[in-house]
Amino acid sequence: MTYSEWFDAHATKHKTIIKKLLAQNFTSDQIIEYFEFSNMAKHEKEFCLLYETKKKCHDIAYLNCYFCACPHFRFKNDGIEKIEEKTKYSFCAIDAKDGALATYGDAIHQDCSNCEVPHSKKYIEQKFDLDWKNAMRECAL
Ligand code: SF4
Repeated sequence: MTYSEWFDAHATKHKTIIKKLLAQNFTSDQIIEYFEFSNMAKHEKEFCLLYETKKKCHDIAYLNCYFCACPHFRFKNDGIEKIEEKTKYSFCAIDAKDGALATYGDAIHQDCSNCEVPHSKKYIEQKFDLDWKNAMRECAL
C-alpha cells in the first residue's frame, strides 16, 4: 500500500465518523474527546488495527487518535530524494526531536514511533479541522 492509498482510505474512515458525530450534534470538543484511544477502541474498531489488541501505538496515558497521521508528516510515493543508494520517501517537516529517519533495506522512511506531538488534546485543538484531509493538505509532496 502506498502512502497515498493509506491516506485516502484513512480519510474516508475519518469522514464517516465525523459525519456520524455531527448528526448527533457533537460539539468540536466532544468530537475531539470521542477520538481518545480507549473510546475509539470500544466504538470504532475498524479505524485502527491496534484497537483489537488494545495496544497503543504510543505508550502514553492520554492518547488521542484524531491526528493519525500527523499534519507535519511529508511523503512522496515515488521518493523525495536519493541518499547514496537509498531512496527517502518521507520526513518530518518540523524535524521533531523525537522523530527519526529509519532505513529499511534501500528505503528511508520517517519513524514517528517515539513522537507524541499530534496525540495531545492541546495540539489537536490548535490544528482542529473537521475535514481531516484539509488538516493533512501539506503532507503529500
Ligand atoms: S516526528 Fe512527530 S511531529 Fe514529526 S511527523 Fe512524526 S509525529 Fe509528526
